[in-house]
Amino acid sequence: VLLVEGAPYVGANDLARLLGATKFWRSDVRRLVLRAGAHRVTLTPDHSFVVVDDRTVRLPVPVVSRGGELQSPVALVDSLPRDETLPRLVFEARRGLVVRVPRGGLVRSPEVSADDRLTRVVFPAEVPEGATVVSRARAHFGVRMPGAFVGTLPESLPPRSLVRSIVSARAATGSAFEFEVDDRAAGFRVVRVPASGADASGAPTGGEVTLEFLRVRRPGIEDFAAEAHPAQGVRVIVLDPGHGGSDPGVRAGGSIEKDLTLSLARLVRGELVRRLPIQVVLTREDDRSLTTEQRAEAANHARADLVLSLHFDAVPGTQRSGATAWCPPARVGARDGPFSTRGPLELLPWREVALRHAVRSRAAAEAVLGAIDSAGAGPVRLRERLTCPLLGVNAPGMLLDCATLTATGDRVRVEDPRGLRRLAAAIARGVARWAERP
Ligand SMILES: [Zn+2]
Repeated sequence: VLLVEGAPYVGANDLARLLGATKFWRSDVRRLVLRAGAHRVTLTPDHSFVVVDDRTVRLPVPVVSRGGELQSPVALVDSLPRDETLPRLVFEARRGLVVRVPRGGLVRSPEVSADDRLTRVVFPAEVPEGATVVSRARAHFGVRMPGAFVGTLPESLPPRSLVRSIVSARAATGSAFEFEVDDRAAGFRVVRVPASGADASGAPTGGEVTLEFLRVRRPGIEDFAAEAHPAQGVRVIVLDPGHGGSDPGVRAGGSIEKDLTLSLARLVRGELVRRLPIQVVLTREDDRSLTTEQRAEAANHARADLVLSLHFDAVPGTQRSGATAWCPPARVGARDGPFSTRGPLELLPWREVALRHAVRSRAAAEAVLGAIDSAGAGPVRLRERLTCPLLGVNAPGMLLDCATLTATGDRVRVEDPRGLRRLAAAIARGVARWAERP
């Protein structure tokens, strides 16, 4: 979808492809006709009237021409005929895409309510019958639905909610959601209410998928999976807030990297200790300068099982946004590299000791990036390079550029305390995942 003066548009070529339509440009009357199945849609540049078969539909904004291609307001997709010969389209505002509606129909924004007894999450769904629970663990309770999700997830949850967070997860078809459920929840129940009617366009209405999380066990409710325990060996996580003291790091807008990294590290520590029976050590607790050696020493002295060096990116003059993880490169098979197998002794310059942990570092980075992406703070990138903050660190680790401060959306998100807390929760979720099966 392209925004023209704030209004969403879809290109005629994309529209034709989605509908399986053939395009005819009638230059005599300056009209574009799309033929699909038994139907015909006629678009006229600079007009907000579109002819659909024999009906004239008035759209809120006119059809425009950009780069030699006609662009139709996305509102058109709601006015297309609904029958077997034409795919049903929907505008997914969240992702900025027009997509074909799958057989599973649509899933809309959930409502969350909570009292002392139970927390209820209700998703309006056109085909609720296909909803399934794919993971029963409290830490990442997963639900998959056959419909395409066209809603938004709540920014905050009610105070007594047993659900701590809801994020949308990747799904090959339909949609998937991951819930973080409080330890006090004793069980859950899924209620699927079939659609009971249809709207003017024939779409089913009244269907719902309700997830209930209850504090007290009672007949008919299901158990969560046994708690996953951190793998033996994951006891200490070191968080290294980048920069500090005389070294401010990057600045963008009103943000200074050294302050953001410290605030974020404190939040990540809180989120981690809530989830895992582990110790979390910060390389600095205040605004001070540290050398690379001091940071490595702090991590090695604490006997870190994972080191996260927290940074923010700034790339002026580009469209770059989102997060990047830098982890030590794997050098498997390198004959003269640090993993040379010629002798019983493995000699590695101390500064490159982090290379030993390349494989586990990469797994941790993938888990953390996956969680950041699911929390909507992507795009995410994984790069293999031994970066300065990991020199001398004898543990799996990564440098995480948690967001790109030159991207307005990223900066607004991390400058908002709630946004920073959500980012911290995502990072902790990723670390917890890795710690359960590193
Ligand atoms: Zn930095």
